[in-house]
Amino acid sequence: MIPPRFEYFAPATIDEAIQILDRFEGEAKVLAGGQSLLPVMKLRLAEPRALVDINRIPNLAFIREDAKSLRIGATTRTNDLNDSDLIHKRYPILSDAAYEIADPLVRNMGTVGGNVSHGDPANDLPACMIALGAIFHLRGPKGNRAIPAPEFYQDTFVTALAPNELLHEIEIPKAKAGQGNAYVKLEKRVGDFPIVGIAANLLIGSKGVIQAAGLALTAVGPTVLKAVEAERHLVGKAPDEAAFARASEIAKGIANPTSDLRGPAEYKKAMVGVLTRRALHRAADRARGGA
Ligand SMILES: Cc1cc2nc3c(=O)[nH]c(=O)nc-3n(C[C@H](O)[C@H](O)[C@H](O)COP(=O)(O)OP(=O)(O)OC[C@H]3O[C@@H](n4cnc5c(N)ncnc54)[C@H](O)[C@@H]3O)c2cc1C
Repeated sequence: MIPPRFEYFAPATIDEAIQILDRFEGEAKVLAGGQSLLPVMKLRLAEPRALVDINRIPNLAFIREDAKSLRIGATTRTNDLNDSDLIHKRYPILSDAAYEIADPLVRNMGTVGGNVSHGDPANDLPACMIALGAIFHLRGPKGNRAIPAPEFYQDTFVTALAPNELLHEIEIPKAKAGQGNAYVKLEKRVGDFPIVGIAANLLIGSKGVIQAAGLALTAVGPTVLKAVEAERHLVGKAPDEAAFARASEIAKGIANPTSDLRGPAEYKKAMVGVLTRRALHRAADRARGGA
């Protein structure tokens, strides 16, 4: 399949990329790994007049931790999350998710920025970003904006990104002692998009009580869902089966999946309950220093 004609630009700086996006007044798209954009162009579901390839902009691919945050650059490849010791040891939720995204070819091309910017409710990384409390740093003609991940996702394929803005960095609060997280995904075949995915992040204090909780659901609503009430329920509780079972019931209550080739809606909803408990137990084990 051949996409419609488009102009191609390969800017050398973020500002140059933004100028081109701005000039096309909504008819240009950012090209990152191309693993989602090119298929939709080939299917003629998107017909941008121009593509702005951000892969030649220097210093846009990085994973680094500073005194306050973990910072991930937009063109960091999905596979870089798998290859990073820092991610495995301190932010394992991200390597859990990255390991199960598609296959090595797609992971080598697809970017973290593209995965979170696409706005597909079945992308795996958005739920992890919400559970971790990530902030997305955007830049456009009027300057920089910092958007908390839950506010970024507005509807299916609709995000807070303006057509002339670029996501350049994801900032995640630095991991603390007593923090553990996990992403659990149910898929039909290895490498498939999720039937359901659950991202859980817990901070367990020295008295053994949950101090903070992040919980988000993939592929069971029009967009990624933050399970706010379930998070509230967990805070102040011991990280045990009773607390996790109740949180899972609450999370199930907000899931609103549709029936499709990946399964009937009732099955997916039931799986939200099962996977939420699993993700919370795994996050708690990791918070206690387990694998
Ligand atoms: C066979 C296959 C299986 C897959 N399975 C999974 C899976 O299981 N789980 C999963 O999560 N994903 C899956 N994907 C999607 C894959 O992870 C994509 O790489 C990812 O969703 C998009 O990243 P990209 O870098 O390729 O973005 P692109 O395709 O280049 O762009 C996607 C969209 O985001 C915009 N965009 C990209 N980067 C930026 C930026 N920095 N700022 C602003 N806008 C930007 C583009 O304009 C476009 O609208 C699969 C893809 C394929 C082909």
